[in-house]
Formats: sequence, structure tokens, C-alpha cells
Amino acid sequence: MLLHYIFGWLRRFQRAALMGALLWVPVGLAVSDSGASHSERPLLLATIKPLTLIARDVAGDLAEVRQLLPDGASPHEYALRVSDRRLLDRADIVLWVGPVLEPYLNGAVAGMAPGRALTAADLPGIVWPERGGDSAKAGVEQVRDEHLWLDPRNARIIARALAQALAKRSPDTAAALSERLRRFEAELDVVEATIQTRLAPLRGTFFASDHDGFGHFANRFGLRSAGYLRDVSGHAAGARSVAALMGRTDVRCLVAEPDSRPERLQRVAAELGARFAVVDALGMSIAPAPAAGGGYAHLLQTVADGFAVCLGDAETS
Ligand SMILES: [Zn+2]
Repeated sequence: MLLHYIFGWLRRFQRAALMGALLWVPVGLAVSDSGASHSERPLLLATIKPLTLIARDVAGDLAEVRQLLPDGASPHEYALRVSDRRLLDRADIVLWVGPVLEPYLNGAVAGMAPGRALTAADLPGIVWPERGGDSAKAGVEQVRDEHLWLDPRNARIIARALAQALAKRSPDTAAALSERLRRFEAELDVVEATIQTRLAPLRGTFFASDHDGFGHFANRFGLRSAGYLRDVSGHAAGARSVAALMGRTDVRCLVAEPDSRPERLQRVAAELGARFAVVDALGMSIAPAPAAGGGYAHLLQTVADGFAVCLGDAETS
């Protein structure tokens, strides 16, 4: 009886799906036809949330902004799904960070027509933090830290490049884009100044991180990294550098990202005599990017708040 019901339902579903497919085919064709015309909104595909926030701040509704990775997925370990590849094929502009942070996209980007992929890490003017620490002394090859959106100066560069690419594709939106870009940059001036003021008393203080992904933020706002448990690519740090970190007495705060295991890290923080904080560098918990803008500024402020609280008064912990 139950089986009969299920089969009946499946048959109905099949019929409905077939009808749906028949109905949708002409619409799909119409969309791809008009997609070639420049009057349609371009599809701007950003890979991770921080880039989506910048893209939405700049483009608003002037482009269809989509995000490739689900919130919370680690770009270090992601693998493309079939549906991702379809979306990548459809996108007019693909905004991604770069090959170190997003190795899953290297092959796909290599096969794209020139100009379709916008690689943030390759943009002229991107500021890179100086890589120091024990690995530099030991002569270990340094992998660049591509968590570059955590420096607002880099967000500015990405935003400008994006506005330019969009204006080139849809010249009729150029004026509106430049107005949105102006607003974005003004917003950044305000949030940067606010964060500088808040973190000024904490300049030069040491934090440690579960994953070495905060170099750009530290570099911009004068904080210092004492070490990490996982490197910039998310791999476990060497035993020697972890031992060196654990031997320190000047670490005020251990930061981790929302996807890490807090129990273990809380123990590490206790051993260090440091506070523990979860800092959402990927903006996982931030609401979908608002068309009105302000998404990126909100992300940066959230990261700053996390550091300020964690570094603030470690002496009392
Ligand atoms: Zn990372």
C-alpha cells in the first residue's frame, strides 16, 4: 500500500518534472540569448563571502552577484561540484582570491578566456604583510598569505578593479558604479578610522591564531602574531614552531575561526595564559550581502571587535 503510494507519487513527480522541463527550456534559451547582450545584468560570481560582500557593495543590483562556495566552506579544502562548474561557465566575471588560498579553482581559471577571471592576489597595489617568524629564520620557503581581504587597503583595490571590469562590460552602468565605488571608499575611510582608534591602545600586543590567516589584519592595524597551529594553507604547523609558541608568556589572545574545534583551542589558550576568541574572518555569520552596501565594512568591524575584546584586558583573565 505504502509502496503503491510512493510509486504513484514518483510517477506524478516525473510527469511534473517533465512538464517543468518542457516549460523551462524556451525560457532558458531566452535567458542565454539575451545574456549575450550587454543590456542584461552581468553575472558576477565571487568565490567566498568576503569577496561577495565587496562585490555587492560595489555592484548593488547593477550585476547579479552570486557566491560560489557556501558560507562556512573552507576555501583551502574545497572541491568543485558539477553545479559549481555550470555556474562558473555562466559567469561573466569570476572574482576569486588566488591560487594559494583557493587551489580548487586553479584548473578552471586556467581554462577561462582572458579577462573573465579577476584574481585579487594579482592586482597591482595589493599590500602584502612581511612574513617573519621562525620559519623565515630557518630558511623555510614562505607561502604568501592570501587572506588579503582583511586589509581594507586591499578591499579598495579589489573594489576598484571590479567596478572597472563591470563598467567595461556594461558601459551604461559606469556612472552608477563609480558613485557606488565612491560611497564604498567613504565607508571604508570611516570604518578604518574607527578600528584604528579602537585598536590603537593594543598596538604591538601579541596574539596567536589557530590558523595563520590574520597577517593582513595584523599588518594594517599594528597587532603582532606570536605564532599559529596551522599555517596559511591550513596545514598543521611544525612541532618546533608550535613548541616555540607554547614557550611564550606574552601572548594575550588566541583567535580561531568558527570552523575550528573550540575545546582543544581553549585548552591551548589556557596553557598560553591567553584569552580565547572566535573571529569570523570569512564572514560566515554575516547576513547575505545587502544590496545597499555596508557588507564588507561590517565584516571588518566584526573581525576588529573580536580582536579588541580578546586582546583588551588579558591581564584580568
Ligand atoms: Zn584560511
